[in-house]
Amino acid sequence: MTIKHEVPSYLTQHGIGPWGDYLEQIDRVTPYLGNLARWVETMKRPKRMLIVDVPIERDDGTIAHFEGYRVQHNTSRGPGKGGVRFHQDVTLSEVMALSAWMTVKNAAVNVPYGGAKGGIRVDPKTLSQGELQRMTRRYTSEIGIIIGPNKDIPAPDVNTNEQIMAWMMDTYSMNQGSTASGVVTGKPISLGGSLGRREATGRGVFVVGCEAAVKRGLNIHGAKVAVQGFGNVGGIAARLFSEAGAKVVAVQDHISTVIRSSGLDVAALQAHVNATGSVAGFSGGEEISDRAQFWAVDCDILVPAALEQQITVENAASIRAKIILEGANGPTSPAADDILHENGVLVVPDVIANAGGVTVSYFEWVQDFSSFFWTEDEINLRLTRIMREAFTAVWQLAEEKKVSLRTAAFIVACTRVLQAREMRGLYP
Ligand code: GLU
Repeated sequence: MTIKHEVPSYLTQHGIGPWGDYLEQIDRVTPYLGNLARWVETMKRPKRMLIVDVPIERDDGTIAHFEGYRVQHNTSRGPGKGGVRFHQDVTLSEVMALSAWMTVKNAAVNVPYGGAKGGIRVDPKTLSQGELQRMTRRYTSEIGIIIGPNKDIPAPDVNTNEQIMAWMMDTYSMNQGSTASGVVTGKPISLGGSLGRREATGRGVFVVGCEAAVKRGLNIHGAKVAVQGFGNVGGIAARLFSEAGAKVVAVQDHISTVIRSSGLDVAALQAHVNATGSVAGFSGGEEISDRAQFWAVDCDILVPAALEQQITVENAASIRAKIILEGANGPTSPAADDILHENGVLVVPDVIANAGGVTVSYFEWVQDFSSFFWTEDEINLRLTRIMREAFTAVWQLAEEKKVSLRTAAFIVACTRVLQAREMRGLYP
């Protein structure tokens, strides 16, 4: 009897979902990898994927089950590293893509990690604090068999925060019998968290935005900025741009869109969002109901800082910005990339633009191991240097090879990952 081996379809879904976008990005970089292309299949297959059942007792005594994931895409350059997302639309294939983008991101900015990501398919807004804690702890316990300070280090992502990292650290530590602060990053400062971590992703977006503006001959002072997503990434980036004299002319979140061509008061908007959970109902701007209009807003810099697959063939041609800074992971589809390129829009890809978060996660992990903590100035200085150097190296390669910044970033990253892969060799 012959056994027919079929490649599982979830690995090869070109053109479908974020994983399909990622596969297309890898295909685009492959011709530039020389002899390392022999190893490129490594990038298309996550090393290890864990699906876990997460049962909890609800406050009303019923039992609820959630599906959780942890995907370790690659560990050639070091332990797995990447956030944990709580969202009702999380799927295995989305987590695969997010973990793969972490591999590329960590290599692009040269922090000594592979790539990983996790998530639970849940709308956390439907849970009480107690339910959220029980779910987080059970999930951590279930993935505890593959995470660890030297194995795979989770961190915050969409809808997860310092409190959730504290519960994850505590659960892992309780199971181990000793406190292991290096098992997660993005912790509260009192538990071995790092100064500057909370703002790091938004700060990194701002730093590379300033570099890109210089290349485009755009003055940040007076520049018009539009931001999608007003959470930990979009909110901080908007604040830093506005403090530097830019005008934040439009903000869109999952509920509404507010615009003001003379510039929104970002501090007042942040206070409104803190109080109500959304930009909806903010009186300091005009609320528009057609969500698609956001993309066509008159701006110089556009910051998608929400979820994947937002800039598509449907809206790419309407974008008027000169620069796009990808605060989100995977916000632009490959087909949209082509349209933007043709229209002369400079796209600073996610794997560079939003790498500030994981860079300061790396600082946190190093500080935890040495039990010696740095000042916020030291952290911001080191973050700025790493972001600028990564941007400049990718910019120069893009010029040399006449490719987009995304392809250049992927060349840098895939070369680092696959060189490590080749040097380590196959076992056995
Ligand atoms: N979730 C963030 C990202 O997508 C940070 C990951 C980390 O710090 O490990 O880059």
